[in-house]
Amino acid sequence: MARIFLSLGSNVGNRAETVRKAVIAISQLTRCVLIKESPLYETKPVAGPLQEDFLNQVIEICCDVAPLSLLDSFQSIEKSLGRLRAERFGPRAIDIDILFYDNLILHDTYLTVPHPRLTDRLFVLCPFSDIAHDFIHPVRKKTIGTLMHELKERVGGDQKVLRIEG
Ligand code: AMP
Repeated sequence: MARIFLSLGSNVGNRAETVRKAVIAISQLTRCVLIKESPLYETKPVAGPLQEDFLNQVIEICCDVAPLSLLDSFQSIEKSLGRLRAERFGPRAIDIDILFYDNLILHDTYLTVPHPRLTDRLFVLCPFSDIAHDFIHPVRKKTIGTLMHELKERVGGDQKVLRIEG
């Protein structure tokens, strides 16, 4: 079974309910087990058009489904929860990103793992650090905790993230 970390985000509609429904749908996928959930964070959008704040969460699952099949399943869940594929970095009912799939390093047309932007995003690193501070990024060879502290020093107050639960 692979140890997999996912980032979830929503800034349209009932954000908390949609994130909750996504976690339940993921935990019900065959050959997948939900291991850990971070607290929810309310965060300012870091890119794209003017839009509402996001709710973000990171979860850990154990799963023996291949990476691309898993991505397919996540995109089906996004669709079933009202995600419309429109503007890049635009508002979305739900976004599910694969952050890590064990220590796999993959550059495929449809999937890049580790997620290429995770180290620039406090909305990923803060909740991630709450559940797996010591996980080592297989390319950067640093822990999530270290990557989070380094990014905080780099961006100062420019990326606003607020833990709202847990
Ligand atoms: P987004 O609009 O941010 O949800 O981006 C979705 C697109 O990114 C999809 O077409 C995926 O094929 C692609 N993608 C590449 N790497 C990843 C990843 N690690 N997790 C999720 N989607 C990815």
